[in-house]
Amino acid sequence: MINLIIFGPPGAGKGTQAQIIAKKYKLTHLSSGDILRQELKNGELGKKIKKYQDAGQLVPDSIIIAMMEKAATNKIKGRGFIFDGYPRNIRQAKSLDKFFKSHKISLGQVLNLRLSEVVAIRRIILRGKTSGRSDDNLKTIKSRYKVYRTQTAPLLEYYRAQKKITNIDGQLPIMEAFAKIETVIAKIAK
Ligand code: ADP
Repeated sequence: MINLIIFGPPGAGKGTQAQIIAKKYKLTHLSSGDILRQELKNGELGKKIKKYQDAGQLVPDSIIIAMMEKAATNKIKGRGFIFDGYPRNIRQAKSLDKFFKSHKISLGQVLNLRLSEVVAIRRIILRGKTSGRSDDNLKTIKSRYKVYRTQTAPLLEYYRAQKKITNIDGQLPIMEAFAKIETVIAKIAK
């Protein structure tokens, strides 16, 4: 089993890389953003999620942790996971560690996509033209970025302490970034 986390600020290309990785290595791709968006039409819960997403804030841990745990437990018999957009704060990371432990599996590596804020914001604005996502606008993006810096980026220290971080240049063309990721996976799959 190979378990990975794809990490990086909004607009880093996490979803794109996660899809390619999942396909090639037959991993289960768990995107927290997608899982939340699937709930948007779900009455009161959907309304609550949309409120947080549109403000560029994190959805409460009590909601997202349960959802991710359920989705992962459903696929525990698979070849492994690529977590995308999760964890996003220390509490989520600790909960994921517990999940791994309780199933006697371990984290392979955190793939940290690095890129400048200017490039990332430019990409999201571009995506907003076709994504139909109400949170792909400049005001919300600024807030998502702030949340990334204050709540999510500290996880780099958390995983560095576990010696689990590999940096990947997120400004490379898609398949060049993927080629770098393949060499990382080749090492941990041995
Ligand atoms: P991006 O990474 O481009 O910002 P996502 O689709 O991953 O986009 O996330 C969109 C929004 O969904 C976030 O701004 C947040 O409101 C919510 N969200 C996604 N993942 C999480 C998470 N792990 N914890 C809390 N909220 C989340």
